[in-house]
Amino acid sequence: MLIRILGAAAGGGFPQWNCNCRNCADVRAGKPGFRARTQCSLAVSANGTDWVLLNTAPDLRQQINDTPELGARRDGGLRNSPIKAAVLTGGDVDFIAGLLDLRELQPFAVYGSTRVLATLAANSVFNVLDASVVPRRALPLGSPIAIEGAEGDTGLVVEAFAVPGKIALYLESGAATENYGSREGDAIGLKVSAPATGKSFFYVPGCAVVDEELAARLKGAPLVFFDGTLYTDDEMIRQGLMKKTGQRMGHISISGSAGSIAAFEPLRVARKVYVHINNSNPVLDDNSPERRATEAAGWEVGTDGMEICL
Ligand SMILES: [Zn+2]
Repeated sequence: MLIRILGAAAGGGFPQWNCNCRNCADVRAGKPGFRARTQCSLAVSANGTDWVLLNTAPDLRQQINDTPELGARRDGGLRNSPIKAAVLTGGDVDFIAGLLDLRELQPFAVYGSTRVLATLAANSVFNVLDASVVPRRALPLGSPIAIEGAEGDTGLVVEAFAVPGKIALYLESGAATENYGSREGDAIGLKVSAPATGKSFFYVPGCAVVDEELAARLKGAPLVFFDGTLYTDDEMIRQGLMKKTGQRMGHISISGSAGSIAAFEPLRVARKVYVHINNSNPVLDDNSPERRATEAAGWEVGTDGMEICL
């Protein structure tokens, strides 16, 4: 199984178009130790030719152009694509907007929870993906399903499972409702398996806390891509960027006693990679003490183009 990080940044990307925080200013200026990153997405292939996208970021067109394996094949038909399916883990703009780049009547399948499919159905702009060409299929929680392209099996099986988290910002129903109207399945993780080889990995780009259920699921895993949005819960407040904590946004922090480094410590996960990294996060500076601490704890900080073969 081949896994390619298409984008390792959180919503807004790195740098974010209107952001002049120190990280964004430094990456824009080309300062050594800073690398730009597009918004969060992975591509996975069981056979090296057919690919499944895990989320479709607003940067998808750039990501495809930066990844030769995902472009139309020279030896293929006049219109062709190795992208056979897209699996969505939530209704956030940075997870679904890239679907709009996949118009042009190219067959592939879209998988999402019933909540995410309802969001697509409620926004008529997504009808540019003709349902007779691009079927939308429900992704059940807790039961593995084979991911079928529009023209056959991809050789990958995905199990979606609910993780503690929050509904997409633009769907929030107000502070008066419990957790802003979030329901189970608004934040999900994926276990992706290739039955032919027996290999599997986890993709959890948004998660508020590693509870007992999630810890049990991830224990001993060979590879986990995990929510690296913030290093500390209040970093966006301290930097004057926003009035919200990470917890308010549904994201666990990397550091601290309640952070993901501490939570993963007893789980013996063989390879741990942070993705969905917000532009405020000091781990984006290759030379920061926070970056050193993160790597010393056995974590990798994801970059666009990073490829892992399982
Ligand atoms: Zn910034």
